[in-house]
Amino acid sequence: MQKSQEGFTWTAKGDFQGKSVLLVEARDRIGGRCWTAEAGDDTKVELGGTWVHWQQPHVFSELQRYDLANFQETVAFPENGEFVVKESRSHPARVQNSAEGQVMMERLEGLMEKFFDNPDYLELDKLSLADRIAQLDSCSQEERSMLSAHTASFYGVSPEKVSFAEVLHTHALCNFDPAMMDIAIMKYKIARGTTAFARAILDDYKRARIFGSPFVSKFVIPTIPINVISSITFDPPLSTLQREVFSTGVTPAKSDKLLVCTSSDLRNGFNVTCEGGDMPYTSGFADGKHGNHTLLTLLAHPGNNLDRSEENIRLMETLRPTGIQVDSACGHLWSEDSYAGGVTPVRGPEFLQKYHDAIRRPHGQVHLCGSDFADGGRGFISGVFEDAYRVTRDILR
Ligand SMILES: Cc1cc2nc3c(=O)[nH]c(=O)nc-3n(C[C@H](O)[C@H](O)[C@H](O)COP(=O)(O)OP(=O)(O)OC[C@H]3O[C@@H](n4cnc5c(N)ncnc54)[C@H](O)[C@@H]3O)c2cc1C
Repeated sequence: MQKSQEGFTWTAKGDFQGKSVLLVEARDRIGGRCWTAEAGDDTKVELGGTWVHWQQPHVFSELQRYDLANFQETVAFPENGEFVVKESRSHPARVQNSAEGQVMMERLEGLMEKFFDNPDYLELDKLSLADRIAQLDSCSQEERSMLSAHTASFYGVSPEKVSFAEVLHTHALCNFDPAMMDIAIMKYKIARGTTAFARAILDDYKRARIFGSPFVSKFVIPTIPINVISSITFDPPLSTLQREVFSTGVTPAKSDKLLVCTSSDLRNGFNVTCEGGDMPYTSGFADGKHGNHTLLTLLAHPGNNLDRSEENIRLMETLRPTGIQVDSACGHLWSEDSYAGGVTPVRGPEFLQKYHDAIRRPHGQVHLCGSDFADGGRGFISGVFEDAYRVTRDILR
């Protein structure tokens, strides 16, 4: 048995409501797509899932349970909009000063209202983001470009591959309020970090666990990401629809995450989303102050080798505004992580009607579970808990 950060195999007496439980984890750490790293100077950086909000009830109640509901703020929002770019593949970059940045973010908010304004939900499920933007006759080319860059940046894949219903779903969970959407999905970070959160849950679990071991036998609750399920053989095989989803039904968002500390004076306002073009990243924003440094978060296209520091610096030289000084940087290549297969599975048009129920159906004793399968909070940390409640209920029943 391998030694790991989380200890050796450990067998405990006791069970959970009459069921014995064994935790099997392929990595040598807990947390999966949530992972906090120390970046010197008492700076903690989140390499994976980061932002949470009380609009996401399941994660918020678990944070309360473990006394971890203290937050740090990301500061890349309109009130601080020093530097704002919303650039699509077809439209040139827009670079603004603080006052113009704020106007631009307000304008974007109005555009998002138009974008979401359509009550026919089943028809909308057939649309991609690109289809929906093409329907907005009253918008100028520049406005469409802003919308395209902004909405596609949530997923890191091109707007043709993203189901409009997915974005609408998140919008609905944010009270149909575009301003709330920015705040709920990209503002509050857990002060002690997501790894501290995962460890608190693991400490509470107190049952048998195996780390550093991809599972090889039959399991009841695989909580593995949709992007990597197709690498696992199920016997008997999964249903045809399930296999279709796991092999071709989703587009893995292959963004890599890079965190950069800079002492350049950005006065904190920095919010950029670029859809392809010459920029190596899809989005970048100021992520809080650490002493004299500003932390920048970048979600980058794969293939930039962001874990190598010279490349990091070269990447930053291509940033607008130019001349940002990189003091330190670290990141993780989610695109090459064989236990994640990318950031998240991106659902395309018609996914909801064709596949959503099918992937959540138990396969004999196998219950697929995790944030990727959640009904409400899919793609978010909150979805982890929401879906665990569902599957635990089903199994106990
Ligand atoms: C860069 C990035 C940014 C994100 N930003 C946010 C954010 O700001 N807010 C937010 O709410 N969410 C965010 N997310 C999404 C969030 O992190 C995930 O939705 C959530 O962590 C997924 O949790 P999970 O338990 O369902 O899956 P995972 O965390 O992926 O856990 C699955 C576990 O299964 C293990 N595993 C895989 N294969 C095997 C195998 N064969 N055998 C045994 N074990 C295996 C993996 O190692 C992993 O530990 C982000 C994700 C990333 C990557």
